Amino acid sequence: MELKDKKVLIVGLARTGVAVARFLVRAGAQVTVTDMAEEEALAESLAALADLEIGYELGRHVPYSFLMADLIVVSPGVPMDIKPLVMARAQKRRVVSEVELASWFITAPMVAITGTNGKTTTTTLTGEIFRACGLSTFVGGNIGNPLIELASSGEQVERVVVELSSFQLEGVESFRPQVAVLLNLTEDHLDRYASFQEYIDAKLRIFQNQGPEDFAVLNMDDPLVAGCAGRLAARVFPMSRLAELAEGISYRDGFITFAHRGRVLRFGTEGFRLKGVHNLDNIMASLAATLLMRCDGDCAYAAVSSFKGLPHRMEFVAEIDGVAWYEDSKGTNVGSVVKSLESFDSGITLIAGGKDKGGSYQPLAPLVAERVSHLVLIGEARERMNEALGGLTDTYLAASLEDAVECARRRTEPGGVVLFSPACSSFDMFKNYEERAERFKALVRGAQGKGRA
Ligand code: ADP
Repeated sequence: MELKDKKVLIVGLARTGVAVARFLVRAGAQVTVTDMAEEEALAESLAALADLEIGYELGRHVPYSFLMADLIVVSPGVPMDIKPLVMARAQKRRVVSEVELASWFITAPMVAITGTNGKTTTTTLTGEIFRACGLSTFVGGNIGNPLIELASSGEQVERVVVELSSFQLEGVESFRPQVAVLLNLTEDHLDRYASFQEYIDAKLRIFQNQGPEDFAVLNMDDPLVAGCAGRLAARVFPMSRLAELAEGISYRDGFITFAHRGRVLRFGTEGFRLKGVHNLDNIMASLAATLLMRCDGDCAYAAVSSFKGLPHRMEFVAEIDGVAWYEDSKGTNVGSVVKSLESFDSGITLIAGGKDKGGSYQPLAPLVAERVSHLVLIGEARERMNEALGGLTDTYLAASLEDAVECARRRTEPGGVVLFSPACSSFDMFKNYEERAERFKALVRGAQGKGRA
């Protein structure tokens, strides 16, 4: 689409909105930005755009502007089903997400990664492998730096790795990655989707424009992911931690085997610094994506071996009086907490809760009954979590995170583990999961030297 002189409306002015606005003004478009937040709340973003000629509609959405736009670009934080967007689509206005817009201007081969959990870890590692193999690489998307920043910079890279949320995928039209990865599908974001199926459908849009020359890397151990294999136009490249595969990537007895059209590579996993079965999935997905894009096995192996993982995902904080404290603030849904609990055999004090996303906590029940000695619940979700899990183990409803940490300190026996893995988002009590994590770690450090009594 030629952007010069086109009327473009940007919906949502956070970091992505700013990047999109800069890009579009430079491309000669007539840009208007709308956001439900008021001017004061957006001061930082507005300052970043102060030098550009842009129209603003803040603190409200003006329906007329949606109907008059040649193109509407939606930032990832904005639901696609808000009224003015529904109306605009009904009137045949073109509505796209930022990744769709960016993809029109990117020519480098692209890996796109989605799933309920493990996206950021897999995206980061995939980027590391490409770089270790000597390829200049842009890593972006849902991970923090919008893809449009690559298009804006005009930088020529050899590979692009993009993390995609279901929200970003809702607004794709022609977006077509050479390799698309689907890690897993478990319930999440039911506060924003009418049903689990709607959420799954959004995720599957990552494959919708792929053709037979492209690859779909699918985690066959996840029945919902495996179930979509037959419906894809791309070549399916299966991955499994449980079954050996003659074609695909799989794990057995300490070795990952990559097998594709007679090329067979084996990687010992013993020295890997990234621990946990879920990370084995993430590693296999990263290896599959990069090896399918012609990376050298030795370079890829070196990158995986030295990868330490990311903060706030099962991060070890401290050992206090024989108790190990872990911070997993990024464990924001039930599927990820299942994996975190699977990482320890028993003696767990689980601190969970936060903003309820409307899903069921039932999938946690067997692991809570088997491995959790003390359950400490916080935040808005604590009552609902208590109803689902409270009867299974010693449970305490805490008034604050501080209270929860204090309670965990008193109750956890030496040799045990305190795991802060909320299964909820953080927005009831904190700005984001990072702030929640820092608060937790500060409280844990404060607890050092207090003793149990
Ligand atoms: P995302 O970007 O999808 O939120 P992250 O890599 O940031 O994923 O990891 C988020 C949380 O999910 C972590 O706390 C971790 O314990 C859990 N997790 C990571 N990878 C997986 C996986 N492959 N399957 C299930 N849970 C995972």
